[in-house]
Amino acid sequence: MSDVKVYEIEMEVRSPLVLSSYEAIGNVFSTDWKYIPGHVIRGALFSQLMREGKEVPIREEARDPTVFFQPAYPVLDGRETIPAHPMIYKCKVCKKTVINLEKFEECEEHPFCMESKGGSLVFIDENGNLKFFEYEYVDLESLGINRVIKGRELEMLYSFIGISPSTKFKCRVTDVSGKLGELGIKDLGELKIGRGISRGFGLVELKIEEIEESKLVEDRSREIEKIIGKKEDNPLILLVKSPTFNLSGSKFGLDWKLDLSLGGTELKCEEVILTGRTSISGFSLAGGIPKAKLTNLIDIGSLLFFETGGAIQEEELMKEIARKELRGFGPHSQIGLNFLEVHPIAYGGDLQ
Ligand SMILES: [Zn+2]
Repeated sequence: MSDVKVYEIEMEVRSPLVLSSYEAIGNVFSTDWKYIPGHVIRGALFSQLMREGKEVPIREEARDPTVFFQPAYPVLDGRETIPAHPMIYKCKVCKKTVINLEKFEECEEHPFCMESKGGSLVFIDENGNLKFFEYEYVDLESLGINRVIKGRELEMLYSFIGISPSTKFKCRVTDVSGKLGELGIKDLGELKIGRGISRGFGLVELKIEEIEESKLVEDRSREIEKIIGKKEDNPLILLVKSPTFNLSGSKFGLDWKLDLSLGGTELKCEEVILTGRTSISGFSLAGGIPKAKLTNLIDIGSLLFFETGGAIQEEELMKEIARKELRGFGPHSQIGLNFLEVHPIAYGGDLQ
């Protein structure tokens, strides 16, 4: 297990990126995702490798997954964004931001103006301040070309709303079996992602760095320890980064077990604070397998609380959490589900 590789992938948008959970409504393609889901990255990556003539073991991966895809969130000046949880409030008038996990806090100057920002994207700036991230969008119209008569069709005017070029994203892909390495993932220079790629949308440029998982886990476990703190009764709080529904490790059925099993330590989920529920569909790449639709998944920005009974002080447990952040906390992380993270915004206090 010592030589598991993690590919840290930075993506820079070159042509408008249309990230949509649904097919076009009429002739309008819109963007409704705030991040690039793992299954979208997986599909784009495998398709690109196949276009280059590589034999991607899709059926094998469907049966026995060994490659795990984190969702990709935008980065701004090297700072990674993350979904805000429901206890991050912003005053609609003076824009003052408050994180308070204990109680609802009003803006002193403007009562009844606090708005929960759960689910929107935030990052921590160089001074340790919480900042909100907004995408820049472009909207475009594209004329459909009839392939037979090579003429423009009036009925085929498409409209796109996409994420603007030069936006950057980052994610990590963990390759337990070494398959991606053998397929030459490091040589990939670009990917086509999202809707409308046949019309030239969704071209992203890649920078891929290969890192040993053990090294990442070592460094990250110390960060996690710092965030959670030393107190014995400190809870483990996980921030949801991709649709989540099953952390129990059961491979069968879509059962709703949010209890965690971390290297032999069982942690019971005591509380969930939701931003909302979401659904996902159409992620299967393996031929012959029907596209599933999952509904009622816990949406990004939600918080899960676990009582640890002091177990949180164990070094091995910290490493297991760090490993799960990379590989996913439950089954179906090969398609980007069940990714969560320990993050300072979920603990309030010092953000630096
Ligand atoms: Zn105010």
